[in-house]
Amino acid sequence: MTESHTPVLVVGGGPVGLALSCLLSDQGVDHVLIESHPGTSRHPKARGVSARSMEIFRRLGLETEVRAAGLPAEQVHFYRGCDLVDPDYTRNGLAQEPGEGPEHTPSPGLICSQDALEPLLLRRAMELAGSRIRFAARLVSFEDDGLGVRAVVEDRATGRLDHLRADWLVGCDGAASTVRTGAGIAMEGPVGLGRYLSVRFEAPLGEVVADRASASYFLTVPGRGGFMAVDNDRHWIYQYPLGPDAETDPTDNELLADLVRTAAGIPDLDVTVHDTMTWRMDAQLASAYRHSRVLLAGDAAHVVPPTGGHGMNTGIGDADNLAWKLAAVTAGYAGEALLDTYEAERRPLARQVIDISTANATNRAGYRIDDELLLTATYRSAAVIPDPEHTGEHGVLDPSGCTPGCRPGERVPHARLTPGPAGVTSTLDLVGPGLTLLTADEDPRWQAQAEAVRQAGVPLALQAVRTAGQQEADPGQWAHLLGADHADTALLVRPDGHIAWRGTIPANPTTLPALVRRVLADR
Ligand SMILES: Cc1cc2nc3c(=O)[nH]c(=O)nc-3n(C[C@H](O)[C@H](O)[C@H](O)COP(=O)(O)OP(=O)(O)OC[C@H]3O[C@@H](n4cnc5c(N)ncnc54)[C@H](O)[C@@H]3O)c2cc1C
Repeated sequence: MTESHTPVLVVGGGPVGLALSCLLSDQGVDHVLIESHPGTSRHPKARGVSARSMEIFRRLGLETEVRAAGLPAEQVHFYRGCDLVDPDYTRNGLAQEPGEGPEHTPSPGLICSQDALEPLLLRRAMELAGSRIRFAARLVSFEDDGLGVRAVVEDRATGRLDHLRADWLVGCDGAASTVRTGAGIAMEGPVGLGRYLSVRFEAPLGEVVADRASASYFLTVPGRGGFMAVDNDRHWIYQYPLGPDAETDPTDNELLADLVRTAAGIPDLDVTVHDTMTWRMDAQLASAYRHSRVLLAGDAAHVVPPTGGHGMNTGIGDADNLAWKLAAVTAGYAGEALLDTYEAERRPLARQVIDISTANATNRAGYRIDDELLLTATYRSAAVIPDPEHTGEHGVLDPSGCTPGCRPGERVPHARLTPGPAGVTSTLDLVGPGLTLLTADEDPRWQAQAEAVRQAGVPLALQAVRTAGQQEADPGQWAHLLGADHADTALLVRPDGHIAWRGTIPANPTTLPALVRRVLADR
């Protein structure tokens, strides 16, 4: 056996592990990712990629590619009918239609199947980390000695076992996580809320749905399930609930093709079944997100009922929250306690997402997909210095809708900008890989404070919403979002786009460095 070392070992090359790898590379963190399968997922499980995930992909330079791989925005509708040819069908859209009401994001969500998304993430991860992305490599076991972990990794092509020493281990290895079990972290919450069969098939349905193209086609006949569009043409998923006595994984393709024909309402439909997947609806949350040198993200930390399309998106948000914290800790300018804020910020959010999605699952009247739910996240933790007067009226998420503001803990609000340098068209584009001090106008009085932070070894960029070459598309919007004292006010923005502190220019040049040390748990 050989032994090598890496600062961070990511286990799992699903959407969350791959997103984490891209984000770690973006933060300059050397890491290794291992994935037990030889390739990415072939089954289009998740399809709803929410606005918050698209904002993260935008930061990674992936937004255009993901959008090109998804369904056109005008097809993001939800159909209800007894079959696909029902003349009395109904159709509705997202809870907030694009272009309806104020614009809250530069990157609205879309439908892009997981089997199309993962190769895009993999390609970017490999561009950034090269051979340190290892597929067909399985974590067999690990030991944690409090200073790091020693992992045993199997090369699945040769069966060879290697030791890999890592300072930090992140389990992105899905619901049956080996990492979670090895760390002794329990899952809490109900399992088996339903069991479903997903049939991936090909059939010429493009013309059939041309006047009713939707993302999902829910069938109103009890027990019949629904169709999920992959391309709204030839590629589809038919999904239906399995009864308690059904065989585990029906494999008779002719029988499945007949089920598809019946559900579609087209007896002579030419159907080719490609593969099937059975899945169970669970609603579980890990009792902890960190144990010693081990952290969990994605389905390893929370299993969300898919009713609402939040599971993968919540995991991508975990990756975004964790990547910059690991970067700061491994680079040595943050204290290890910063990593405890990961659980403090993300676990209550997952709790709310699970509760909302479980309520959706039992909502007989149907529900509308909330693309903006995850934009409403307001973190309360030691990595956020709260406004004294802000007590927080709701949970981490606000299901009543997005009310953009500039309070600590919130994601920096989107204001559209006239195109500035290198395609900067939103205030979100001003957030860098280090900390960002965001002011309304270029203001040299902040320079000395920013310089003092940099001198202490913390990467910090000074950015202004309005510069000689760039301004708000809607004049006055930033002042409105920020509040009346905008001339002097700056936001200290974390690399995940959340506001760590908001305040006016301090008289003492050591004030901002002290605030930054507090946010970074660097005592
Ligand atoms: C029918 C359905 C519809 C869904 N729709 C949506 C949706 O619209 N939107 C949404 O956000 N979510 C949706 N989800 C949820 C989404 O699919 C999951 O949340 C998502 O796949 C989780 O990603 P992950 O990377 O955390 O885990 P996974 O996708 O499970 O990936 C984990 C990876 O870890 C690897 N692995 C496991 N053990 C090891 C090991 N020991 N060593 C190395 N590698 C290992 C696995 O091979 C796997 O590739 C849906 C789920 C289902 C079932």
